[in-house]
Amino acid sequence: MTFRTATAVIDCQALVDNFNIIKGLAPKTKMLAVLKANGYGHGLERIAKVLPHADAFGVARIDEALALRAAGIIQPIVLLEGFFSPDELAILAVNDLQTIVHNQEQLTAISQAQLDRPLKVWLKIDTGMHRLGINPDEFSHFYKLLSQSENVQQPLILMSHLGCADDVETDTTTHQIALFEQLTSEFNEEKSLANSAAIYAWPTARFDWIRPGLMLYGVSPMTLSSDKISGDDALVKITPVMTLQSSLIAVRKITAGETVGYGSAWTAKKDTNIGVVAIGYGDGYPRHATNGTPVLINGRRVPIVGRVSMDMITVDLGCSSQDSVGDLATLWGKGLPVEEIAQWATTIPYELLCNITRRVQIEVINN
Ligand SMILES: *Cc1c(COP(=O)(O)O)cnc(C)c1O
Repeated sequence: MTFRTATAVIDCQALVDNFNIIKGLAPKTKMLAVLKANGYGHGLERIAKVLPHADAFGVARIDEALALRAAGIIQPIVLLEGFFSPDELAILAVNDLQTIVHNQEQLTAISQAQLDRPLKVWLKIDTGMHRLGINPDEFSHFYKLLSQSENVQQPLILMSHLGCADDVETDTTTHQIALFEQLTSEFNEEKSLANSAAIYAWPTARFDWIRPGLMLYGVSPMTLSSDKISGDDALVKITPVMTLQSSLIAVRKITAGETVGYGSAWTAKKDTNIGVVAIGYGDGYPRHATNGTPVLINGRRVPIVGRVSMDMITVDLGCSSQDSVGDLATLWGKGLPVEEIAQWATTIPYELLCNITRRVQIEVINN
């Protein structure tokens, strides 16, 4: 007997297809593919190598950027939160890493550094999300100092980030786009505003550089219900890059009135078969997935019953099930959108994908 343990199947062809679908939405813009958090759980270097046509990569930590360089990645790499200490500036210069500048401390550090070569800088303006970025009224000051600094490669790239692009019902995004336009329209520098949701839903946010993350991995960034999406829509065409699988390691008969798992959190209403699948929160499967969360067994949706354990979950296979030990279980991916599992677990797909833990096996296909 050989059972499959928790395995993330990574489909490289799906990644390339998704890249091309996004490219099709905005053919004239350059693409910065976002690979932070271990490529949204798919493997940092692995994803970069499958995207030789990306114009740049975006990461959140300098260690991620250095890992990409060590793996032989030669495209531009941008630190999306900028550098964290002036000491890092020399490392950026040596490794040809680009940085965002979003605060006064970074501006001062760049202005005062002694660098062998100038750095490419993306100046980040806060247009309303109020997380990172300089205030609009600081723009001309930052622009002037960065444009004049010997440590900065000209021209700059101007950017901002949207807080609500996944919600087409609010007007926050319209305001953010308008403010970004207003601040930057007289400047010839390249501009960048759009994450996945904006690339999809807000064409006027695409500018010169788009910055897709989630959509590259074949997951919808929108909070839209699927009945609003037509058949040839990009969100229908993208396919999940990760399919998370494991197998049934036990099938048990239980009778009506018996309970299953820790805390006896679920009681059988009638006689049934319980399947035990070898995956749990120790693999990154969300512990908050409630009773009813679907799992695919032999192509059929069955509900989780009882609490998610560290290494196992239990599902209700039904009283007449033919499923047996060793059968494949799909937790999310092809045939079962991670978006849906995220809803059951009251979280977002981003969190589920990047929470996959080290003990999950990786199987790369279509490379
Ligand atoms: C993470 C990130 C993105 C990508 O966001 P998605 O919603 O995954 O497309 C784009 N831009 C910045 C600055 C980011 O931090």
